[in-house]
Amino acid sequence: MGRLALAGRAGVAHTLSSVGTSNGQQKDERRWVEQVRTTPDRVFTAGNLMDYSLCPRKFVLSLFAPAQQRRALGAVPALHSAVRATLVAADRKGGPAAVSLEWLRDEFLRRFDTAACSDSLEEEQTVRLGLRMLAEFQAAAREHPDELVGADVRYEATFEDLPFAAVADRVEKTQEGRLVVARYDVTRNPPGPRRLLNDFSIGLLVAVATLATGEKPMGRLYALRVNKTYQADYDDSRLEGIQRRAMTLARAIRADAEYAPKLGDHCRWCRVRLLCSAWQERRASMLRVRGW
Ligand code: SF4
Repeated sequence: MGRLALAGRAGVAHTLSSVGTSNGQQKDERRWVEQVRTTPDRVFTAGNLMDYSLCPRKFVLSLFAPAQQRRALGAVPALHSAVRATLVAADRKGGPAAVSLEWLRDEFLRRFDTAACSDSLEEEQTVRLGLRMLAEFQAAAREHPDELVGADVRYEATFEDLPFAAVADRVEKTQEGRLVVARYDVTRNPPGPRRLLNDFSIGLLVAVATLATGEKPMGRLYALRVNKTYQADYDDSRLEGIQRRAMTLARAIRADAEYAPKLGDHCRWCRVRLLCSAWQERRASMLRVRGW
């Protein structure tokens, strides 16, 4: 029978036979579930709440997955990571308009993980895309009227007894003095203004920043691939709804004892599938059915 060597936790290679998962992998999962179950005092983020809502096991595995699994995620997350890090570094120097295009290019190239690309053609296209987005954002920043007041700002707040955290890639003040919490987006189909109002991640950022700062900011998305800026002004009832949803999920996480895997089509894109015994077993049984 063929055997597949899979990249595993902290650089350790798990060897998976085609008839199921290794005992070590299952032991790791049991240990991680136990660790999460017995240390419930964690700060919740939109990312881990959404993981839990999709699949409780994904929530647990994501807490322990190694950074190296970024490679399995492909070129777009690597692009986002490098573009975001470059713009945060530029914002710390006063914004993209305060640095040269060469500086942006060098920072981006230094930070971009070329190993995330499947081949040199994808690497070339992704690098070109990143450089184009940075150049366009820099040109737009020269005309941008809002004042930059912070980069990579983490907000924390407690809803009832539950702690939440959210990070703004950039914080600004409009000319009228309104606070803005913004994120950078490099996806092909970013949420426009209407979808942004229903975006749980930006909504939670606005809700947490509101409690942390005492003023309600606007949520903003810099959709870099399409060179557009979208923003959303959340009314109180919408923010309360986001807060309620966040608290319901956080309480469910605290009460869960099993964090059972929820298998489905979403597993195909799950970033922690290599660590998940339920997925590996399903995959092995699919291979058996096909006689491979
Ligand atoms: S592969 Fe599927 S079942 Fe396993 S953690 Fe990911 S989403 Fe959950």
